[in-house]
Amino acid sequence: MTGDLQRDGTKFCRSIFDTVRKMSADGLGVTRQGYSKGETEVLDYLKMIGQELRLEINTDLAGNVWMCLPGKNRDLPAFVAGSHADSVPQGGNYDGLAGITAALAVAWWMRRINYTPERDFMVLMMRCEESSFFGKAYVGSLALTGKLTLADTALKHRSLDMTLGECISACGFVPADMTTGRPLVDLSKIAAFVELHIEQGPTLDSSETERVGIVTGIRGNVRHKKVTCLGQTAHSGAVDKQYRHDAVMATADLIHRMDKHWDEWLARGEDLVFTVGVLKTSATAAISVIPGETTFTIDMRSLSVDTCERFHALLLEEAEAVAHERGVKFEFDRKIVTDAAKVDAALSARLEAAAKEAGVAVRRLASGAGHDAAVIGNSGVPAAMIFVANQNGSHNPYEAMKIEDFMKGVNVLWHTVRDYDAQP
Ligand SMILES: [Zn+2]
Repeated sequence: MTGDLQRDGTKFCRSIFDTVRKMSADGLGVTRQGYSKGETEVLDYLKMIGQELRLEINTDLAGNVWMCLPGKNRDLPAFVAGSHADSVPQGGNYDGLAGITAALAVAWWMRRINYTPERDFMVLMMRCEESSFFGKAYVGSLALTGKLTLADTALKHRSLDMTLGECISACGFVPADMTTGRPLVDLSKIAAFVELHIEQGPTLDSSETERVGIVTGIRGNVRHKKVTCLGQTAHSGAVDKQYRHDAVMATADLIHRMDKHWDEWLARGEDLVFTVGVLKTSATAAISVIPGETTFTIDMRSLSVDTCERFHALLLEEAEAVAHERGVKFEFDRKIVTDAAKVDAALSARLEAAAKEAGVAVRRLASGAGHDAAVIGNSGVPAAMIFVANQNGSHNPYEAMKIEDFMKGVNVLWHTVRDYDAQP
């Protein structure tokens, strides 16, 4: 084998990123709405690259595109790599596109060095992973695995007078075909699915040496969309401390207690993040009024939903204590639980071995965000993820990524594919 994908593939990958960025430019960032003309055009461009690489191209009934580089033994289930083509409104260029480009780069490299893998290698480009336009995430991969419902396709677009189903139809696909409850492809023909994705958080970027990550699991969550704290509104000058039932003080007290517990839980090794993303006083709140009401959200995530559940129980306990001490009342709306997703341990071990082989230092880390890989993994296909360091977070136009970090991730993917049938 001659040459070096990590070095020689840079131009190929950069050209894809640049072209797609131009195609979907929207102000500072990019917009590629799921099931839109823009998403279709990007997929068409990427299909053209697949054609140049002599890949066999198929589109499933949800519009996800499968591009196959045939292996020596076509009866073996395929190795699939890819991600989503869409983006959030005015988001970054690499969220999703990095995983597709990485898979394409591996196919490009195999052609370049005249390498035929033992089994088929497939580039999978999925549609509509982001929830921002229709309030529903993973539409392409849910349809693909037989888990999209007709009710999902009735969801309204955030600003257009159209449903998801109508947007799907406008792209030439039939919502009823995508919601039969059956997978759109034979999932047993997939040996492994690997999604490379930017981290979207600061962990890898803060490391000098470990710019690539192997995902240990995808965090599930326990949430409340609305918690209300009811106290008593009163004059801010006329009421002394002992007579107050201040909803803001009570809410701050509760959040502070949970923050302290969070530190303790982290110190004893639990995986947990805790966020109050929305916190409001009532519409009648004023500078001279002791606040009688707050509303806030709760979002706790962990690789173990059991951890979330126990932290949630503690939250209720502390709310009870604060309510008692301060003469307020907390009301919680329905608890929403999303299961954590396991990544396939054996496949992850292969990723780590491949990284070692490729000379790429990696860190094991949890994924805080959800991904198509979780949907595919939860449907029984062995799935795993490679993370690449990126800057300025994600889901914003300032999202950035260094191409040299990305190429390290691509190299790990390539070594995983190359060694897949060489290992026992
Ligand atoms: Zn993504």
